[in-house]
Amino acid sequence: MTRSRKQVLMVLQQAQEPLSAAAVHQELGLCCDQATVYRTLHYLEEQGLAESFVLHCTEHGTERYYTAVQGADGAPLPHRHWFHCIRCHAFIELGSCAVSAMVRSFEETQQVSVQHHVLYLTGLCRSCREASTPAGQR
Ligand SMILES: [Zn+2]
Ligand SMILES: [Zn+2]
Repeated sequence: MTRSRKQVLMVLQQAQEPLSAAAVHQELGLCCDQATVYRTLHYLEEQGLAESFVLHCTEHGTERYYTAVQGADGAPLPHRHWFHCIRCHAFIELGSCAVSAMVRSFEETQQVSVQHHVLYLTGLCRSCREASTPAGQR
């Protein structure tokens, strides 16, 4: 793997939340241009080293977010889903995948093979929710 591929992968592995290409670029500082970051993320996903999903939020528009599939130690990371706060843009990890049981029973009844699914939640995180609710109504 080239140096830039390793660096991008490391950024994803160390991140506590999904990152957009712009966020990865920012993490890397000035070492690569944004086009290289986009290409590299695409390459890592093709190689099965990263996963991505597209999320729409009014402030950032439609953006693709990436996560690593393995930790820095090579151990597989669990398949994850996220909550996205539409005000402060924080991501909060949902618990284990609630969809997989549904997918399995769908595969069985429909005799299909599901390769991919997308689930994310959007809304207000705790502090944004509190900030937007008048004190008397909490
Ligand atoms: Zn928030
Ligand atoms: Zn899932």
